[in-house]
Amino acid sequence: MAETLIKLKNINLTYNKNKANAFQALFDVNLEIEKNNFVIIFGPSGCGKSSLLNTISGLEKPDDGEVLVEDKNLYKMTESAKVRFHRKTIGMIFQSYNLIPTLSVLDNVVIPQIFTNYSKKQRETKALKLLDRFGIKEHANKIPTELSGGEQQRIGIARAIINSQPILLADEPVGNLDSKSANNVMKILSNLNRKEEKTIIMVSHNPDNIVWGDHIIYMKDGKIINQEFRDTSGEITKTDNKDSDEMSKLEVLFRNFQGLSREQIKMLITPMKAKILTRALLIEMDERQVKFLEDTVRQRILGTVDEEELYRRLDDSEERGGLDMDARTAKKVSQKIESFIAVAHSVSATKKIGSDKRTEIVLKYLLSQVDINIKFSQLNRLREAVKHRIINKIDREKFQNLLDIPERVGGVGFNKKTAKKISKKMDLILMIGYGMS
Ligand code: ADP
Ligand code: MG
Repeated sequence: MAETLIKLKNINLTYNKNKANAFQALFDVNLEIEKNNFVIIFGPSGCGKSSLLNTISGLEKPDDGEVLVEDKNLYKMTESAKVRFHRKTIGMIFQSYNLIPTLSVLDNVVIPQIFTNYSKKQRETKALKLLDRFGIKEHANKIPTELSGGEQQRIGIARAIINSQPILLADEPVGNLDSKSANNVMKILSNLNRKEEKTIIMVSHNPDNIVWGDHIIYMKDGKIINQEFRDTSGEITKTDNKDSDEMSKLEVLFRNFQGLSREQIKMLITPMKAKILTRALLIEMDERQVKFLEDTVRQRILGTVDEEELYRRLDDSEERGGLDMDARTAKKVSQKIESFIAVAHSVSATKKIGSDKRTEIVLKYLLSQVDINIKFSQLNRLREAVKHRIINKIDREKFQNLLDIPERVGGVGFNKKTAKKISKKMDLILMIGYGMS
């Protein structure tokens, strides 16, 4: 039975309260966090993620409501009790590392131990052990800025757990890192969560990080708008997510297509497809922008908007009827949409493209979506599975299963998470591609 570790009850938080520039950042937030979960607080910039995290850590006193950590009311403790509690229970990791530039790597890690009873030697031994574990022991006597961003963040993690704190709070810990270093840091956090049973609460605006979590909190405009719980394979076990509603609506429609004309089907499902595809891209946008993009994607699927026009609408200023995206983002997003639509198109164009060619297109796309090394033997198995899935010779379950089971028993031998991810992408392709050409 899962144990509740942190509980927030009716939290409101207003900055500059009772002043002209008062700003309410959190609205009636209720939340329970279970022990040993990897929690991700996700949402666009400015939605209140850091405010929520700082409320949990005891740094930002809410207007009203309660924050209970291990059943202790955080904002009813005396200041000194809170400081002690903090030192023992909560470790913090920051986007900009917050290391002391004039101290050595080793001393940065040792700092939180200063108030403990350990000897200098004991503290340093403990710190070196952590540095060793995170692969930066040889840099112990350098100053932090001599290390790469990813390495500096590993110093930050070592410092955050030096007092063996059971709870780790991280505010955009990989926000400044390239994807490889980010992945390394996420792996370390994930290990701390799984092997040492630390409860991790991490803030991120980057959808790529969601896969690491088993409790995802979606925020928008100072409110929690959705929560998801996932099992170890990434399968969502509990949610009030509207996207899955949309998916299931579409599935129901698929089953009831008989009797409708091709045109009718198209008009019915294209808006849903547009919605699903837009959400799947998970771009940071406000409601107006999401609606606009959905509409544009819908027209792109139908072909009434071409590739150039799609890019123009993303890039153009609001006055000119666009989304006013940064040019590079617009390019990236439109390319994502284009490559998706192209691959979906190829699946549906059964008569125009040969079966082998189609399989290769889909295979290439799927592999571009996951970050894995794949052996030649696995590639062949995957190719076969994709081929059969496209022509519906095998269903989604069988497909995922084939990807998951070991090579020696005839499968592709991916791990569960990858199998799941690829199978979901495959489904999305088939769904968006359905009846397209
Ligand atoms: P996020 O971490 O999701 O980007 P924040 O929690 O930092 O969002 O901020 C939420 C909102 O509260 C933003 O509009 C931000 O400008 C405002 N805000 C954050 N900190 C302060 C502060 N100390 N004083 C006034 N407004 C603040
Ligand atoms: Mg923030």
